[in-house]
Amino acid sequence: MQPEFDIVIVGSGLGGLVCGAILGAEGYRVCILEKNRQLGGCLQTFARDSVLFDSGVHYIGGLSEGQTLNKVFKYLGLMDALKLQQMDEDVFDKIVFLEDGREYAMAQGYERFIDTLAADFPGERDNIRQYCNKIREVCSKFPLYNLRVADNFAEKAEILEIDTKAYIESVTSNRRLQEVLAGNNTLYAGVGDKTPFYVHALVLNSYIESSWKCVNGGSQITKHLAKRIRANGGVIRNYSTVTRFVEKDGAIQYVELADGTTVTAKHFISNLHPQQTLEMTESSLLRSVYRKRIARMENTISSFCVHAVMKPGSFPYYKHNFYIHEKNGVWEAISCEEDKWPQSCCIFFSASSRSSEFAEGMCILAYMPFGKFADWQHTFNTDTIPGDRGKDYEQYKKEKAETLISFVERKFPGIRESIQSYYTSTPLTYRDYIGTTDGSMYGVSKDYKDPLSTFISPLTRIPNLCLTGQNLMLHGILGVSISALSTCGVFTDLEKLIEKIKHA
Ligand SMILES: Cc1cc2nc3c(=O)[nH]c(=O)nc-3n(C[C@H](O)[C@H](O)[C@H](O)COP(=O)(O)OP(=O)(O)OC[C@H]3O[C@@H](n4cnc5c(N)ncnc54)[C@H](O)[C@@H]3O)c2cc1C
Repeated sequence: MQPEFDIVIVGSGLGGLVCGAILGAEGYRVCILEKNRQLGGCLQTFARDSVLFDSGVHYIGGLSEGQTLNKVFKYLGLMDALKLQQMDEDVFDKIVFLEDGREYAMAQGYERFIDTLAADFPGERDNIRQYCNKIREVCSKFPLYNLRVADNFAEKAEILEIDTKAYIESVTSNRRLQEVLAGNNTLYAGVGDKTPFYVHALVLNSYIESSWKCVNGGSQITKHLAKRIRANGGVIRNYSTVTRFVEKDGAIQYVELADGTTVTAKHFISNLHPQQTLEMTESSLLRSVYRKRIARMENTISSFCVHAVMKPGSFPYYKHNFYIHEKNGVWEAISCEEDKWPQSCCIFFSASSRSSEFAEGMCILAYMPFGKFADWQHTFNTDTIPGDRGKDYEQYKKEKAETLISFVERKFPGIRESIQSYYTSTPLTYRDYIGTTDGSMYGVSKDYKDPLSTFISPLTRIPNLCLTGQNLMLHGILGVSISALSTCGVFTDLEKLIEKIKHA
């Protein structure tokens, strides 16, 4: 019997959608299966009191003319379709230290970035330039990130083992500058003496190149990609939870859904966390050493967010984010004791077409280990499958939210009066909506001491099962788009695809 589709893609996160859009355009008949009502995974948005909030994507790097994501998005038809707003060129991220009230701007464009920081750190200009040069050198070792096709590992072997914290400390002895350069490390859930410098470099480079917000939410990316996929004959099914990839005679024959139905295809791409994918695949073709390596991988920490609806006209809309720290020690917030929490947080403002002067909504995000919500881990709650986590949970969330708002109040005295209402998301929210085990923000956590062990190939030993998404190489919109290109390279001539992207 003929399989129903050429390619079934499990999960409609950005990785699944980009693969669907590219492979659909390359002539494959694709079907995307998504467990939630809303497509997009971390691109999902939600409205509270008529204000739109992003669940995962607050700003995007590298979207100016000529930059990598701009080219990929142009090829995908997104640049003309998206409503984008460039963040303040003089500051996309402001790093704040409550202890002494000092604030530092990270500006867009390398020269402006250097000039702005050098004004705050006279005498450090050469060191800041050296740091920027290192970022660019490291980024140049990742061919696909630069829309080149080359042997991946040979080029970058020498830079994979650089530790972010140690490198920054080697480039300047100025403690506060060290803190500032790592001050937005929530962007990659940085861990001192663990996070490789290449992760820092790939992420920071994209925002220094240019920083953008989606006006009215990142779900427009989902909407336009879904439209493109359907226009090419693709099928997208929501409310479709895949429970098993079933292998027989050396290939996946079909996926089984929670309702017992099956979908057949010639090829399968999983946009899920590789650990989930392997748990859903019994095949003996996947060697136990591979299974163990994937199972051992640690995930990045989860987060706790307050989504605040602001009283109209009461609080300014900032065209930049804030990363607020108690004091020096930006690497410590990720593991701080509960009584010292949050120690650091970030603030992202919702960009709305209704007002550019005043904030309608803002997201206050702080690290939160999954374990803090372990008491309620047996509960489940999404809009597709609603559930009640109980009064204790609501009370605990309220305590955390109030603590977080009080922390922010130290930077913005009186902000509480501008908050009309607020809603929270916890590690359990992310776990249930995204389908991970622990609500991890960015999936697999990388370690400079063993860099190869956390690189995941799109290929598996099952010849018709591939992987995509943030766990392959890098999280974030740029990282996931690049990973999707490498997955698409399994099905189509990557060099030709890259040429098409470069000339779109
Ligand atoms: C709090 C937070 C803030 C972030 N901020 C930013 C930011 O500002 N800028 C940025 O660039 N990046 C940001 N990121 C990272 C970025 O959002 C992610 O890296 C990216 O969106 C992940 O895409 P993905 O393709 O890996 O899939 P995911 O978004 O993880 O999607 C996986 C999809 O698979 C579906 N699924 C899971 N299990 C099943 C199943 N069994 N059957 C069917 N479907 C299933 C899920 O519902 C989901 O739709 C943030 C992430 C988080 C969590």
